[in-house]
Amino acid sequence: MKTKKEKTEIPENIPIITPEMMEKTAVEIAKRRAGRKQSKLKGIKDIKCSSCGNDTMSYAQDLAFDVVLTGERIVISNLTGLKCSKCGEVTFDANSTKIIEKYTADRAGGGYELKISAVGGGKIGVYFPKDILRVMEINKSEKAILTPLSKRKMIIELLNSTE
Ligand SMILES: [Zn+2]
Repeated sequence: MKTKKEKTEIPENIPIITPEMMEKTAVEIAKRRAGRKQSKLKGIKDIKCSSCGNDTMSYAQDLAFDVVLTGERIVISNLTGLKCSKCGEVTFDANSTKIIEKYTADRAGGGYELKISAVGGGKIGVYFPKDILRVMEINKSEKAILTPLSKRKMIIELLNSTE
């Protein structure tokens, strides 16, 4: 005769790992990695900001990288780098850039392929896919900030966008 306990093959207290938990874990690992290595930018204070030109760029260790890639929001906190106290411009140090690359590289599969073409006047540019324009509500004269993360990766951040 079986007791109730024996019938239960899987104990109830076995944790089920959800994708959300995996994501959380990844962020936690990123946090720990960020804190491990000493930043080369540590100690830098009040240097010229490349964005607003004021001498208000200083070392910060509580920076967050926040991006939506292929419909998924990725937030990595506790990153180190420089932050402008005047305009909010952020530059991540080498270590933090590596962490960002690591956690954004996996998402590239669902991205949009763009062709780099000549757009006149000797300039080259890319055309945004129609889906992106519609979903992100990008308008013709809107301004954006482009931040190179490495020689092969960049982020385009829209200004004045309504979230
Ligand atoms: Zn600034």
